[in-house]
Order: sequence, then structure tokens, then C-alpha cells
Amino acid sequence: MKAEIVATGTELLLGETLNTSAHYLTGKLSSLGIEVDYHTTVGDNSERLEQVLRQAIDRSDLLVTTGGLGPTADDLTKELVAKVLNLEMEFDQSSLNNIKEFFGRRKAPMPSSNEKQAYFPKGSKILPNPIGTAPGAFIEKDGKTVIILPGPPFEMQPMFEHYALPELQRIIGPDSERMNERVLKVFGIGESAIEEVLNDLMHLPKLSMALLAKRAEMHIRLVTRGTEATSQETLDSLNQTEEEIRKRLGDKVFGRDQETMIGIVGQTLKKNHLTISTAESCTGGLLGATLTQEPGSSEFYLGGVVSYSNSLKQQLLGVNEKTLEEFGAVSEEAAREMAEGIRRKSGSDLAISATGIAGPDGGSDLKPVGLVYIGFASAEKVYAKKFQFYGERESVRQLTVQAALNEIRQ
Ligand code: ATP
Ligand code: MG
Repeated sequence: MKAEIVATGTELLLGETLNTSAHYLTGKLSSLGIEVDYHTTVGDNSERLEQVLRQAIDRSDLLVTTGGLGPTADDLTKELVAKVLNLEMEFDQSSLNNIKEFFGRRKAPMPSSNEKQAYFPKGSKILPNPIGTAPGAFIEKDGKTVIILPGPPFEMQPMFEHYALPELQRIIGPDSERMNERVLKVFGIGESAIEEVLNDLMHLPKLSMALLAKRAEMHIRLVTRGTEATSQETLDSLNQTEEEIRKRLGDKVFGRDQETMIGIVGQTLKKNHLTISTAESCTGGLLGATLTQEPGSSEFYLGGVVSYSNSLKQQLLGVNEKTLEEFGAVSEEAAREMAEGIRRKSGSDLAISATGIAGPDGGSDLKPVGLVYIGFASAEKVYAKKFQFYGERESVRQLTVQAALNEIRQ
């Protein structure tokens, strides 16, 4: 089955809004084994939208549209899909009731323009919208399938997941090939080094492997294909390959699929009932911000100090003047004293510090841009590690945060 995604909305063509829906839907369709051949974006213009819809229905088996389901005159998607498929528009009372209820909950009268949202191309399966007023539609005609979804991603995604996906699975049937994917997340080893270590696994007959470099981590993406009948086999092959990769890369693999470094660090700290505090220089609070991304972070994160200047490093963290004079603020000694200092002040079980040169200026031969020291302090040990990162300022800062979290994880 060949698919096309048509995103409508003039804001997408003005560069105001990033077309995240195409990204989301492509991932979903690909994992069902549906090949997405085209992404088309078109403004809220009836002539051009009609042309795009005709072309899409002509060249694709499945067409998924987003946007243009609002009550205003420039919201035209359903009407034009009906026109292109030679279908009448049909009124649906229960959709109108839902829209009226939506306004009722807000204690507002329903504007008459919203009535339009209760009309659908004849024969549509209506996809309810539990969040907004615009229901979607699932249409099958002459061997073609059209899925109509609203524009706002937080409405579109749950509607696709809960209502459109089961219909698609029914059409595809159990004998079609699905894609099974697994992503292993790695920190502390580069792309070419991974490639060397995993080279022989990269060309297995039934499993494809791709390396994706993210800003502060590497992803190893494993993909197998199989029908429902062979699902156990494909699962086994994913599991075996994952096991082999973990054996070879050891604890450089920190997570898989939806897992994140901060999620894993947070869980580990919570599980072990450990608290942590931070002392940051070059990351300017990014490490603290990342630690508080995790829901329930108050269970483990006590807080921290952003000591950008030398004087604050001395005043708030008790870093020795002599250390700063002799070794500088970007040094193993300063990183250690920063971590010790914040641990002493906060009374946390663990403390982590970061000091480095994020660039683009401020580097020297002895201390180049990207040089970072991460300090660690606990009741048992105090140490600092040296890192040399490459990349622009934001990459250096994010790599520093990732390296600091990775240190906590271990
Ligand atoms: P309604 O929400 O009234 O049904 P609609 O379906 O056309 O109308 P819009 O009002 O055009 O939706 O868009 C609503 C919001 O969703 C806007 O903020 C818009 O930028 C965003 N949006 C629309 N399409 C996309 C897309 N493809 N990717 C990401 N965001 C989008
Ligand atoms: Mg729109």
C-alpha cells in the first residue's frame, strides 16, 4: 500500500509552523509497513488543495490529510475530498450534538458556522474528536482510502491512534508485512567506532541496522519486517541482536525506545533513595533544568548553584582562590571543589559539577573550546573527569549535561 500525506495550512508554507504531523504520521504508517511516497503541503486555497487531492488520490492508495476542518470559510478539506471522490456531503446529527456539548461545557452558545463541522463525505466513518470541535473521517471508495484529520497535533495524534489506526489495521489484514522497530540509545562512543564494533551485525539478512547521530547521543535503529504469523520470529531476532549489541558496547547503551537519559537517571536515584545537587558553570543551569524535566524530580533533586564567575565559585561553593589561580576555573581541581562545595552546602547524597569552555570564544591551545570537566562527589569518593567535546556552543552544553547525567547513572 502506497501512501501520501497532505498537510494543509498556509502557516506551514510561511515557515510559521513546522509540519510535525507529516513526521508523526510517516512514522506510524511506516511501522505498519505502509510505504509513504509523498509528503505534500498546500495552503488554505481551494483550487490548489483540490488539485493536490486529485493528484494524491490518483497516485496513492492511501491519503491522509491534516488541517482545514475548522468552521471558517477557508477550511475546505472535507468538501474538496467529497468533490474529488464524487461524494455528496451528508449531515451527522450525533456529531452536531457533540459539538453543541463542547460549547455547552464552556457555557457558550455554538456559533452557527460550527454546524459545518457536522457534515461529512457520504459513507464516511466518523472519527470523533474528544478534544476539539472538528471530527475527522475515514473513507473507503473504489480501492482508495482517505483519512481526514484536524490540524492541531494534540487533537490529530490521539484521533489517529484511537480511531484511524484500528481501521487501517483492519484494511491491511494480518498477512501484510509490518515493521518492527527498536532503538538503542548510546552515549560515550562515536558513530565510526560503533560501526567498527558492530560491522558484522549491520548486514544481517532479515534485520537492518542504521546509526543516527543525535546532538548528544547516538541511536542504533534496528528494523525487522514480518507478518502477524511470524511476529515471534521477528521479536526474537530483535531481542538477540539487542543482546549482542549490549554485550559489545557494555554500559555505553543507556536505554532503548522511549527511554531517555534523564528518565533513567531519575528512576535510578528514586529507586536508591538518593538525593543530588548541582554546581554549574558552562551549562548555566541547563543541568538543573534537565533534572527537573522528570516528573517527581523533587524526590531526588535538591537544587543547585549556577556559579558562572570565579567570585561566586568561591563565595557560594567554597572553591579555593589558590585553586582558581593555579589551575583556573576550567580544571579538574575546580570541578572537584565545586561538587564537594555544593554537596556540603546542600547536604545531598551526591553532587555533580560542570565547568568548561562552551565557545565559540575563550579557548586557548592549552584549554580549547569544548574542554569540560565534570566533578562528582559522594560520601565515598570525589573525582573529576576530563572531556573534550567538539561542536558549536549549544552542542558542547548539551553534551556536558549528557555526560554529567551519564556519570550519575553509573
Ligand atoms: P480546526 O483546528 O479549527 O479544525 P484546522 O484543522 O485547519 O482547523 P488549524 O486551525 O489550521 O487547524 O491549525 C490549528 C493549529 O495546528 C495551528 O497552530 C497550526 O499551526 C497547527 N498545525 C496545523 N497543521 C499542522 C501540521 N501539519 N504540523 C504541525 N502543526 C500543525
Ligand atoms: Mg488550517
